[in-house]
Amino acid sequence: MTERWRVAVDRGVCIGSGLCAGTAPERFRLDAARQSHPVEPEAEPADGVLAAAEGCPVEAITITAVESGEAVFPPEE
Ligand code: SF4
Repeated sequence: MTERWRVAVDRGVCIGSGLCAGTAPERFRLDAARQSHPVEPEAEPADGVLAAAEGCPVEAITITAVESGEAVFPPEE
């Protein structure tokens, strides 16, 4: 089975910078309140999604591997 990632944006933390949507526009959108959300909550892994999570200035984006449940970002200590 192909690996899939579950992507979540903590809306209480997101400051609406738009960086994630700029980095991976096919995977993140800003809503009318300038809050980011994943276009699909579960989708195939992509470098742009990881780059967006790493680039978020407030670390509002978390990525979890669906099958294993392991944290992709932020990585577990
Ligand atoms: S980069 Fe982070 S703070 Fe900026 S819109 Fe995306 S989730 Fe929100």
